[in-house]
Amino acid sequence: MFCPECGSTDKKMVGDVCIDCFLKDYTMLTIPEKIEVTICSHCNSKLEEGKWSESNLPEEEIIYRALERNITIDDLVENELIDLEIDQMKGTIAECYVEATGEVYGKEISESHDVDVRILKTVCPTCSKLQAGYYESVIQFRADERELHKWECEKADEIVERTLIKQSKSDKLAYCPQIAKLKEGYDYYIGSLKSGRKVANALKDEFGGHIKESPRLISEDKSTGKGLYRIWISVRIPKFEEGDFIKYENNILQVKDIGKNRVVAINLENDKKHTIPWKDTEEIEVVKKEEDIETTSIISKSPTTIQILDPVDYSVIDLEIKESTKNAQIGDEVKIIKINNYVYLLN
Ligand SMILES: [Zn+2]
Ligand SMILES: [Zn+2]
Repeated sequence: MFCPECGSTDKKMVGDVCIDCFLKDYTMLTIPEKIEVTICSHCNSKLEEGKWSESNLPEEEIIYRALERNITIDDLVENELIDLEIDQMKGTIAECYVEATGEVYGKEISESHDVDVRILKTVCPTCSKLQAGYYESVIQFRADERELHKWECEKADEIVERTLIKQSKSDKLAYCPQIAKLKEGYDYYIGSLKSGRKVANALKDEFGGHIKESPRLISEDKSTGKGLYRIWISVRIPKFEEGDFIKYENNILQVKDIGKNRVVAINLENDKKHTIPWKDTEEIEVVKKEEDIETTSIISKSPTTIQILDPVDYSVIDLEIKESTKNAQIGDEVKIIKINNYVYLLN
């Protein structure tokens, strides 16, 4: 065949011209010379077609993906290999280099393109909420009828942080823009209500107690009549602690375990275990704290009673032997608690 462009007669023809003349004006790959990408300067979220993507990619990866997305390869190309490189960053512009090799009608060809990717930095709606201190819920961490201990506040801080890290995988508003440290307890401001509830439940799981939500109307949208609410979530942990002595249904008990669903306590009269569900704990009265336990020793013993010395006034006290104290020996050191003029021997 005869090529009208170059006059050759021994080459493979593509349409009206030979393959070499065809490839002279052919490009395998099209890509714009300039590409713009809008990202959030705080979290690297990317704006695409009006939507902010969840991805939290490093800038380099965002540039590579922008190049990939803008490449169109001609249908005639086979076995293509494309190499993307960032030559250098000039301010917010990445000067990139795209190299391609492939086969067209069995002939291997290669080409390269220079592309500038401009990164436009802005602030995504989530980050602007965070910057503005936006929050949907406030967790009021308090103890019932007592002040919180330092260790309880520190533990609560830890739980709030841990829960928010876990939540941040599925909730962009899982953050705490502010903690108000008040005399009566801590107020944790939480970005979303969803994560606020998770935090409240995590606190209750650790300390026990009661959760109560109260919505407060912040503002009203005049056109729709819909209100914007913020939810205050009160987490009230119990007044009693493990080791404390309580009165419940006329029994004197020592608290052994505070769990997320119940309180376990031991009856001081007969060593029986009581399991009290949280809904019934309102009736609990604290009669003595664990710090009030006193130590003394056994001075004599009969089959039914043991005698001890009152550690304060050294008077002799007779106590009935219980199943758990029947093996006590004279001279043994024992722990006692005085409640309402009565002395209980502890195990
Ligand atoms: Zn030709
Ligand atoms: Zn952002």
